[in-house]
Amino acid sequence: MDTVECLVIGAGVVGLGVARALARRGREVVIVEAAGLIGSETSSRNSEVIHAGIYYPARSLKARLCVDGKQALYAYCAERGIAHKRCGKLIVAADDAQIADLEALKKKAEANGVDDLQWLTRDQALALEPQLHCVAALLSPSTGIIDSHGLMLAYLGEAEEHGAMLALGSPVLRGTATNDGIVIETGGQDPMQLKARLVINAAGLSAQRIAASIDGIRTDSVPGCYYAKGNYFILSGMKPPFSRLIYPVPEPGGLGTHVTIDLGGQMRFGPDVEWIDAIDYAVDPARGEKFYAAVRRYWPGLPDGAIQPGYAGIRPKLSPSGGKADDFVIHGPEQTGLPGLINLFGIESPGLTASLALGEYVADLAEATGG
Ligand SMILES: Cc1cc2nc3c(=O)[nH]c(=O)nc-3n(C[C@H](O)[C@H](O)[C@H](O)COP(=O)(O)OP(=O)(O)OC[C@H]3O[C@@H](n4cnc5c(N)ncnc54)[C@H](O)[C@@H]3O)c2cc1C
Repeated sequence: MDTVECLVIGAGVVGLGVARALARRGREVVIVEAAGLIGSETSSRNSEVIHAGIYYPARSLKARLCVDGKQALYAYCAERGIAHKRCGKLIVAADDAQIADLEALKKKAEANGVDDLQWLTRDQALALEPQLHCVAALLSPSTGIIDSHGLMLAYLGEAEEHGAMLALGSPVLRGTATNDGIVIETGGQDPMQLKARLVINAAGLSAQRIAASIDGIRTDSVPGCYYAKGNYFILSGMKPPFSRLIYPVPEPGGLGTHVTIDLGGQMRFGPDVEWIDAIDYAVDPARGEKFYAAVRRYWPGLPDGAIQPGYAGIRPKLSPSGGKADDFVIHGPEQTGLPGLINLFGIESPGLTASLALGEYVADLAEATGG
């Protein structure tokens, strides 16, 4: 059986960020990925927004890693030439009843160290975005957009420069704890058995399934797994009306049906929140009706027939619909009961923004716990 010092399961933006951090610290790293290419799940099915860190409870992992991760990410993009744009975003109150929500968001953001939000009156907001309807808005100048695939390629490239290896088409089937490491079995065309002193489970939507398949794990440490799909619709046949990202006040389960722009200038709406039982990325065109209603609250000018079904991503939630808003959950040996096993659960938004910081956090945890 082959042995390796560190095995990272999953080549999404988080697994690659962890592999990069470990490899840069001189660790021997192998990344095993079920798909035939990197980043084919949630990491390429999101809004590609660099979040400022506004929404999360103070001192939560999401807040800390988003705020630290954002700063690190802008510096990393500049250094590595990764396409990105600090375009800014407006969070809008569509009516007077939502002003209190905006005020609460501003306070929450300040508690998280996001101290650059600017309160805009209706006229100030319309001076920036004339087609907007709102009674007030918050401007977040540090919000931006990024080429997530370029970012993943940069993480992989850097990990490989430091000796890491990537095995594609290698789905992890199960694991077994032994007294000198964890044996991971993979399937695919070239099945392998690899013994690793440190195993990082960054398998996104499959993280719970993989954790539960590791013989010897404390099974009550594996949280529930629920899927909240986010559907996007694309604006077609007209010039985008906004140059900044436009967000309504958040809704339960997500950030509200917002407007984002990709680096190619295409505008999309979403994601909405659709609770599902099994992974399914098809976008039901019938959901478009709700999009028109949601978007017209802040952009009354959206013409009939202007949006088309786009794509969907799935949020790996730890609580079901109506449940609490969970933080990222990162379990080390103390929780898993297994030396050398680190599980990452519920890495939904802002996982892309936080990916550099998450990588360092996991590498620190591994060092602190002797993995
Ligand atoms: C709709 C939506 C919008 C979002 N928007 C943003 C945003 O604008 N900004 C932001 O910061 N964050 C955003 N996020 C969050 C962000 O996309 C995720 O946090 C991030 O992509 C998670 O990366 P990951 O590597 O943990 O998971 P994934 O990208 O899902 O990677 C997991 C990998 O594990 C692999 N895998 C699965 N099973 C196995 C197995 N058995 N063996 C080996 N490999 C396996 C998968 O193939 C996959 O490649 C959004 C998320 C969603 C759903």
